[in-house]
Amino acid sequence: MSTQIISGRDIAEEIRGELTERVAALKAESGIVPGLATVLVGSDPASEMYVGMKNKAAAAMGIHSRQITLPAATTESELLGVVDGLNADPAVHGILVQLPLPNHIDEGKIIEAIDPSKDVDGFHPVSVGRLATDSGEFFAPCTPAGVVEMLVRSGNDPNGKHVVVVGRSNIVGRPLASLLLRKGAGGNATVTVAHSRTPDLGAVTRTADILVVAMGRPEMITADMVRPGTVVIDVGTNRVDDPTREKGYRVCGDVLFDEVKEVASAISPVPGGVGPMTITMLLANTVKSAALASGSKV
Ligand code: NDP
Repeated sequence: MSTQIISGRDIAEEIRGELTERVAALKAESGIVPGLATVLVGSDPASEMYVGMKNKAAAAMGIHSRQITLPAATTESELLGVVDGLNADPAVHGILVQLPLPNHIDEGKIIEAIDPSKDVDGFHPVSVGRLATDSGEFFAPCTPAGVVEMLVRSGNDPNGKHVVVVGRSNIVGRPLASLLLRKGAGGNATVTVAHSRTPDLGAVTRTADILVVAMGRPEMITADMVRPGTVVIDVGTNRVDDPTREKGYRVCGDVLFDEVKEVASAISPVPGGVGPMTITMLLANTVKSAALASGSKV
């Protein structure tokens, strides 16, 4: 059986092309340039790299990005003041406060301070509630939204399928389950969510038409846990020691790719799978926010 490789890299590029056109059209129609503000507190190298990638990708498609870097000693009330300023700024359509924040700052408080109409990360309780109740205008969290796009655009629409999601985090598993349950495009799936207290995980994963894994456990899903013909999306991004590599490590997913690709009908790789989709969906949310603000058709 020849297995379809679902390339997040290719799908992300396709979406970025569409967004670039949308940004140009918005500017021509209403003079609006979508604006994304990223707030970074402290100097965590991984966060700095991630924010840098977001800004570069935004600039490449004509989105205005503003980076606010604050010292690690910034107080909670100072950060709340920065968020308030961005909420009030009409040139800013999306606000992203890079997590994790230093321990002395309550992340929940900061997220709740973001205007839900600018919550392009989709973590505000209003966004979460609207997604869960499938009502009103909201921004879907970027990684799960990327997974749904990958399924639909690769010809593996979840509509009517049994999707097993492994992982119940607020960033991936739970919002993905809510997206898949929605009535309408990208939804209408029958969803099972498994987690660390699920006895006999393999018995559950083998019932899937589509299996999405977001566990953070390197290569734990093996071929015997996957029914032949299943579509597999691997969200996991793990660094494992590998002395044969120059860097001393390699990046792998939660799925044992080489083995599972022999039974799956389609599978996403790591790297090059879900990873490139996350930033793309953040930019898609920013463009949507700008379009909503301009009154343009989204
Ligand atoms: P969390 O650690 O927050 O959640 C992991 C989930 O997996 C939990 O619900 C946990 O269950 C479940 N789990 C852990 N071990 C097992 C097990 N042995 N059997 C069944 N379920 C298990 O991780 P995230 O959701 O934040 O991330 C998951 C993975 O996705 C990570 O590798 C992360 O790096 C990656 N990721 C990738 C992104 C991308 O852009 N590509 C973005 C975000 C995440 P329980 O709730 O019971 O503890």
